Amino acid sequence: MMMIKRLALMGSTGSIGQQSLEVVRQHPDNFVVNVLAANNCSNILISQAKEFRPKVVAIANEAHYPQLKAALDGLGIELVAGDKALAETCSLPEIDMVVAAIVGFAGLRPVVEALNSGKHIALANKETLVVAGEWVMNKAKKINVDILPIDSEHSAIFQCLEGEKLNPVEKIILTGSGGPFRGMNAEKLKNISPTDALRHPNWSMGPKITVDSASLMNKGLEVIEAKYLFNLDPSQIEVIIHPQSIIHSLVQFADGSIKAQMGLPDMRLPIQYALSYPQRLPSSFPRFDFMRYPSLTFEKPDTLTFRSLNLAYQALRKGGNMACILNAANEIAVHAFLNHYLPFLHIPRIIEQCMEKIPFLSAPSLSDLYETDRLTREFATSLIQT
Ligand code: NAD
Ligand code: MG
Repeated sequence: MMMIKRLALMGSTGSIGQQSLEVVRQHPDNFVVNVLAANNCSNILISQAKEFRPKVVAIANEAHYPQLKAALDGLGIELVAGDKALAETCSLPEIDMVVAAIVGFAGLRPVVEALNSGKHIALANKETLVVAGEWVMNKAKKINVDILPIDSEHSAIFQCLEGEKLNPVEKIILTGSGGPFRGMNAEKLKNISPTDALRHPNWSMGPKITVDSASLMNKGLEVIEAKYLFNLDPSQIEVIIHPQSIIHSLVQFADGSIKAQMGLPDMRLPIQYALSYPQRLPSSFPRFDFMRYPSLTFEKPDTLTFRSLNLAYQALRKGGNMACILNAANEIAVHAFLNHYLPFLHIPRIIEQCMEKIPFLSAPSLSDLYETDRLTREFATSLIQT
């Protein structure tokens, strides 16, 4: 029997946040949510607070505090606002595990706070490992806490590695659907709109990761995430396009044997696995039926058209703060694209210019990484405005 796990859910109103709560709803004897945290006070957050009755609700945007207070008045829930107070909820004694499901660099601070207070982490926020993978993994190892991946590819690899701890890995193969623009050339992508990019064929996700999936930057970020999670050399990480998104990723061992993890594309599965690890809990999620997928297909990624994937490999090989620069530039560029300030194909151009211009640090501290993020955002924004 599993002890009841007490969760702090960072980014509760997002795609991963809401699906995490679906998992909790299915297993009320296994999980309790003691903290809900999001950027703004939305109707979603209010109804989550009323349903789950956490001890604390945190919002990053302080301007929304009065609205939150009015909506949850009299429920006996403590309310906090601002980045610092939000991150500090991760260290509360009533928390066993932090679910890191904030999007972007903003997700780093709560993870740092969680690690500094010895909490286990179910990690969706891949940007945390892209930016500060070395710090995060070293810290987790030192204090002996688990970093359990929610990202479906990494969950797949983690599952394939179970029971194989002493066996050498030759390489891992990350699969990607190829996104909505698979097969298109640069000419066709010239006038792509945010609405086109937000139409992902297999997954329904938040807007930032959906654009990253369309540009293949998502796969690039996942390559970096995999390097740190599984302690691999960049040359051991391969990407293949698998449009059906049924094989979630694969591990090839020293003897040539390959293990794959499969299932329908449904994030509730990797979320539940991360929350309940090392146990598997039952679920009523739809089952995969081989007869409905008579062919699973594979192709090479088109890295000439979708340049972001190679930029990510480049940043990974360079090390230091380069992936932090890549990430910040990408966040600014994606935001600009979503707001119609930047054409889709200019996203890698902005990233490239930032990687050239922002000072490189080979062994950055955490505070160096915060500074790199700030400088890169400033420079990327200036590139877009001119
Ligand atoms: P989303 O945009 O749907 O949700 C983001 C959440 O973060 C919201 O609750 C929002 O309020 C909160 N947030 C945003 N900025 C914040 C800030 N500054 N401070 C505090 N909270 C803030 O995003 P998502 O699709 O759920 O993705 C979340 C993370 O999980 C991302 O890092 C993404 O790469 C990763 N991920 C998502 C999926 C998926 O299927 N959606 C799959 C794998 C990995
Ligand atoms: Mg993924």
